[in-house]
Amino acid sequence: MKAIRRAGFGIVCALLVLACAPDDQTKPEQAATPAPPASPSRPTLPAPRPSPPAEAPQSEAPPPDPLAPTPERILLHTARPGESLPEVAGRYDEAPRFLRRWNRLEAGTRELHTGQRLQVRATREPPPRERITYLTREGESLSSIARAHGIDARTWGRQLRRDRDAFLPVGTELELWSDPTLRAWVAADIPVPEQPSARVPAGAFSIGATDDGAVANAVRIPEGPGWSLRFEHRAWGTTHSVRATVEALERFSQTSDYAGRVRLWSMSRHYGGPLPDHESHQSGRDLDVKLPLRADLSETLAVRPAWIDLDALLALLAAFADTGAVQRIFLDYEIQERLHAQALAQGVDPAKLEALLQYPRPPLAEAGLVRHLEGHADHFHVRFACPPWGVACTDR
Ligand SMILES: [Zn+2]
Repeated sequence: MKAIRRAGFGIVCALLVLACAPDDQTKPEQAATPAPPASPSRPTLPAPRPSPPAEAPQSEAPPPDPLAPTPERILLHTARPGESLPEVAGRYDEAPRFLRRWNRLEAGTRELHTGQRLQVRATREPPPRERITYLTREGESLSSIARAHGIDARTWGRQLRRDRDAFLPVGTELELWSDPTLRAWVAADIPVPEQPSARVPAGAFSIGATDDGAVANAVRIPEGPGWSLRFEHRAWGTTHSVRATVEALERFSQTSDYAGRVRLWSMSRHYGGPLPDHESHQSGRDLDVKLPLRADLSETLAVRPAWIDLDALLALLAAFADTGAVQRIFLDYEIQERLHAQALAQGVDPAKLEALLQYPRPPLAEAGLVRHLEGHADHFHVRFACPPWGVACTDR
């Protein structure tokens, strides 16, 4: 029966080659070097996206039939060495919990074994990863090679059972699997020395979702004269979000006359994953920022509504918005109301204000970059977007 089911799926694939041959179908031992073409262009398939099946099929021999309404979207993904479930989910722009459900995996499953097959309802088809045979040069470690190739150094080091930061003997031959999009992004990332963000290294990216994910090759928010970190061990993120943070804070220092320091709370832990007392903050693209207090008050005092420096808060929100890297900011509605009044009194352009704040539209309105969310009366929460090269990053 298994064989028949597999054969059945094979036929579907043969008929729908473009849809069925995307990410990592290649088995390492069978893959050729040089690798398959980077990013085959695919037609857009006009398939609707049905809700996940109530009864997921066996992961061992996934029959296509239960998911038949849009068979052209059902892909069989074979896990490459070291690949995690949130990473697979992110690559297909899917929620990790759906992948688990479809494949009858336990809640919270993250690790996969090499060659494990997963059914995916793909709404995005990442480019196939390429196998590269790499010969090390002087002064290289697994970490440096991983960063340069868009690979998660920690997972790779574990998989090879090697210290990822140790220098490797010159000429060591390594096999690696690299995503062409991520690799091209790092290769093109040549920082402009005079820009503040040049202090933030390249190569850190999100894996999976903000509430079910990790950070690869995380970078830490650097020190700066205008800000302070409350939790140094929770100040890790992606290159994209940490650079945008530095850019926003530098811009705020230069354009605002706020005499205090901005107090940063949590971003993510060093490798991401669950963060106590938070649902998100797992993939290095969430940042909590304490509401700025009047500069004559200590920055470590608990926030009281009367102590908030509204002018500074408005400028700070605008500085984050101006980076263009922000997907959403969460801030209590009543504070938005006060900000709105203050901004109008200052003569802020109403059109700009409308784009920035949800207020005066209702607290559930899909409007404005800043949105109301419970629990955001003493800090605001910045959610950075998945960048265009974020092939392992999902918003679902
Ligand atoms: Zn938060």
